[in-house]
Amino acid sequence: MAIIIVDDTIFSLEVLKAFLMSAGYLDIITVQSATELYELVDGHLERGIVEIDLILMDVVMPEIDGIEACRNVKKREWLVDVPVIMVTATTEIDGLQLAFSAGAMDYIKKPLDRVELLARVRSALKLKYETYRRKAREAELLEVTCQLKAANERLQNLSFIDGLTGIANRRRFDEGLLQECRRSKRENSPLSLIILDIDYFKAFNDTYGHLKGDDCLKKVASTLRQVLKRPGDFTARYGGEEFAVVLPNTDDVGAAMIAEELRVRIEAANIMHINSMIADHVTVSIGVVTRFPGQADTPDDLILAADRALYHSKHEGRNRVSVERLV
Ligand code: GH3
Ligand code: MG
Ligand code: MG
Repeated sequence: MAIIIVDDTIFSLEVLKAFLMSAGYLDIITVQSATELYELVDGHLERGIVEIDLILMDVVMPEIDGIEACRNVKKREWLVDVPVIMVTATTEIDGLQLAFSAGAMDYIKKPLDRVELLARVRSALKLKYETYRRKAREAELLEVTCQLKAANERLQNLSFIDGLTGIANRRRFDEGLLQECRRSKRENSPLSLIILDIDYFKAFNDTYGHLKGDDCLKKVASTLRQVLKRPGDFTARYGGEEFAVVLPNTDDVGAAMIAEELRVRIEAANIMHINSMIADHVTVSIGVVTRFPGQADTPDDLILAADRALYHSKHEGRNRVSVERLV
C-alpha cells in the first residue's frame, strides 16, 4: 500500500507523513512538485511501486498547482480509480470546485487536524478498495457471462447437429423445413425437398460391419455437402440411412437436376458394396417433390409426397430419381 504526498513545503510534508505513520501507514512517498509526481508515477515500475492507493495533493504550488496536477495524473488509465484528496488552506476553499471536476474526491483543510485527516484517509482507502473489488467482480462476471454464452452456443449447435455425420439432425430439419414452408407461402416462391435413401444398406452393414457402415454414412453426408453450395440449401440426416435436402426457391426441374447430380456423385464415390443387388458399389434411391405457390404448404405434405417418390424409386429398381407432384 503506497500513499503519495505532494506538497512544496517540507514542513507540511513532514507533518502529514508523521500523522499517517502514527496511524500505521508506513509506505509513504513524498514529492515536492507536480513534475516530480509525474516522474514518479510514470517511472513507478522502475521504482518498485506496483500500486498507488492514495494521493494527498497540496493545492497551491509554484509552477503547476495541485488542481492541474490532479487533472493530469487522472489522464493515466491506471490511476483513474486512485483517490486524490486535496490539501488546502481555508481561504482557498472557493476554488475547490475545480479540483473536483479535475477528479479529486475530497479535501482537507490546513492547518491539519490529525483526527480529521485520518478519518478522510481511511474512507478514501475504503472507497478505493471497494471500487477495486467491484471492478474485479464485474470483470469476473463478464468473463463468466462470455463463457456461458459460448457454452450455450456450443450446446445449441450440438442439439442441432447429427453426431455421426456433422450435418443437421432431424430436429434441425423439422425446424428448417417448417420455416421454409412458411417463407415459400409468404414469398410465393417454389420450395423443393429431396429425400435420399441408401440402397441395401442392411446388407452393407451385414457384410462390412457397423463401423464401416458409419463410414459410409459419413461419406454420403460429405458428398451431399460438396454438391449443395447455395447458402439457403440445407442437408440433414433424416433417419438411419436416409438424408433430406431442403432447396428453397428451387423448382421441380432444378430440384430433379440436383437430385440426379447427388445420385451420380454418390455412385462416383465408388464405395464398395459387393452384396448390393444392383451394383458393386453403394447407390442411393431418391424422391423429389416441389411445392409451387397455392399448393399444400405443411412440412408433412412435402415429406409424404417425397416419401412416395422415394418408394417409387425403390420399387422401380433403386439407384434412381423420382419426382412426385403434390396433391
Ligand atoms: P433398401 O434398399 O430398401 O433401402 O434397403 P436397406 O437395407 O437400405 O433398408 P433397411 O431399412 O432394411 O435397412 C436400413 C439399415 O440401416 C438398417 C440399419 O442397421 C442401418 N442403419 C441405420 N442407422 C445406422 C447407423 O447409424 N449406422 C449404421 N452403420 N447403420 C445404420
Ligand atoms: Mg431406409
Ligand atoms: Mg435403405
